[in-house]
Amino acid sequence: MERERLVVVRKAKCNFCGKRRIVVRTFMGNYSAFNGYHFTASDYSEVVCVDCLTSWRTKAKYVGTLPRIPENLHGVSQSELQEWFESREG
Ligand SMILES: [Zn+2]
Repeated sequence: MERERLVVVRKAKCNFCGKRRIVVRTFMGNYSAFNGYHFTASDYSEVVCVDCLTSWRTKAKYVGTLPRIPENLHGVSQSELQEWFESREG
């Protein structure tokens, strides 16, 4: 299964485009439809690739080292996400 293959990735690298600009969308939890989209704590975090917007869930240790998307930027466009990411590097 695709989902399981993604979860075993050890390094912060996008499985789809191969780039390493990965950020955390939801740190150690989720907002699933099962709980009415309220935050639910979990071992898994959701991370997203800044370059292709592929997202996946992982409990790899690298998550703690990645930048976290501020809540007010959830749901923004890819260009806005890239702008934010690049602004925090500079
Ligand atoms: Zn990617």
